[in-house]
Amino acid sequence: MNVAVLGAGTMGHGIAQVSAMAGNSVTIRDIEDDLVEGGIDSIESNLQGGVEREKVTPEEKAAALDRISGTTDLPEAVAEADLVVEAVPEDVDLKRETFAEVEEHAPADAVIASNTSSLSVTEIVSVLDDPGRGIGLHFFNPVHIMELVEVVVGEQTDDETLDFAEAFVEDIGKTAVTVRDTAGFASSRLGVALGVEAMRMVEEGVASPRDIDASMELGYNHPMGPIELGDVVGLDVRLDILEHLREELGERFRPPQILRRKVRAGKLGRKTGEGFYVWEDGEIVATSGDWGDDE
Ligand code: NAD
Repeated sequence: MNVAVLGAGTMGHGIAQVSAMAGNSVTIRDIEDDLVEGGIDSIESNLQGGVEREKVTPEEKAAALDRISGTTDLPEAVAEADLVVEAVPEDVDLKRETFAEVEEHAPADAVIASNTSSLSVTEIVSVLDDPGRGIGLHFFNPVHIMELVEVVVGEQTDDETLDFAEAFVEDIGKTAVTVRDTAGFASSRLGVALGVEAMRMVEEGVASPRDIDASMELGYNHPMGPIELGDVVGLDVRLDILEHLREELGERFRPPQILRRKVRAGKLGRKTGEGFYVWEDGEIVATSGDWGDDE
C-alpha cells in the first residue's frame, strides 16, 4: 500500500517510520527540503537505535529506509496514495487547506486522515467534497514506541473509511481504540481530568506533589504521576487543553489558579527548569515552592 505523510516533524517522521516498517511504500512531504531530510534522518537514527537494541535487524532497517522517499511537492506526494496521514501543525485553517489540496490531487478512493490531537475532525474533514473519506488517526509520541492509536470518527466519516483505518492500525502493529469526534477524544479527556484534580489537591494542601504522584505510581501502577506528567508535557500546553475542554465540556475542566500562576510566571515544567517540580538535565531535583526539598 502507498502511504503519504504530510509533515516530517515529531509525529510525521514517526508515522512514516512505522508505516514503512510494516511494508508500505511511504512518501513524506514537508515544506522545505531540509525539513524533509531532517525527518528522514530522524527515522534513520531511530532505526539505528533499534538495531543497537536488537529490536530491528540491519536488513529490516535498510528495507524500511528503501521504502521511504521525500518531497516538498504535495501533488507528487499524494498522487498514488491509498492513505494520506496529515501531521502538519495544530491549526485548523492549515489542516483544512491541506485536506482540500490533498483531495484535488489524491486518487478518488484514498482515505485522508488527520493526526490532530485536539481539533474537531468533523470540522477538518468537512472541507472535503467527499467528507466520508476523512477520519482522525491520533498517534502518540514517540510513535515507534507507543502502542495506542485513537481512530476518531467524524460526523460524516463512512463505515468503509473506519474499517480501512482500523485495519491499517492493526497492520502497523498498533492497537486502535475507536472514539467519536468529541473534545479531548478518550485519552486526553481522561488524562487531563486526572491531572487537573491532582493540581487542585496541591492547591488545597491535601498532599505534596511527590506524594500525590506516588499514590498513582505505586497505588495504580501508573508509570508517572499526574503532576510530573503535567511538567513533562508543559504546563502551558496543559492550560491550553483545559481551556478548550472547559469550553466544550463544562466547568469540571476549569483550570486551577495554581496552574495559571505557574504559567504566568514562566514556570512551564521540565522545558523551563521549573513547574510543580524543579528540573535539572531532564531530572527532578526538588519540589517547587513551599513543599521544600522532599526528594
Ligand atoms: P512539528 O512542528 O514537529 O511538525 C510539523 C511539521 O509540519 C513541521 O516540520 C512543519 O514544517 C510541517 N509543515 C507545516 N506546514 C506544512 C504543510 N503545509 N505541509 C506539510 N508539512 C507542513 O509538529 P508535531 O508535534 O509533529 O505535530 C503535528 C500534528 O500532530 C499536530 O496536529 C499535533 O497536534 C499532532 N500531535 C502531536 C503530538 C506530539 O506529542 N507532538 C502527539 C499527537 C498528535
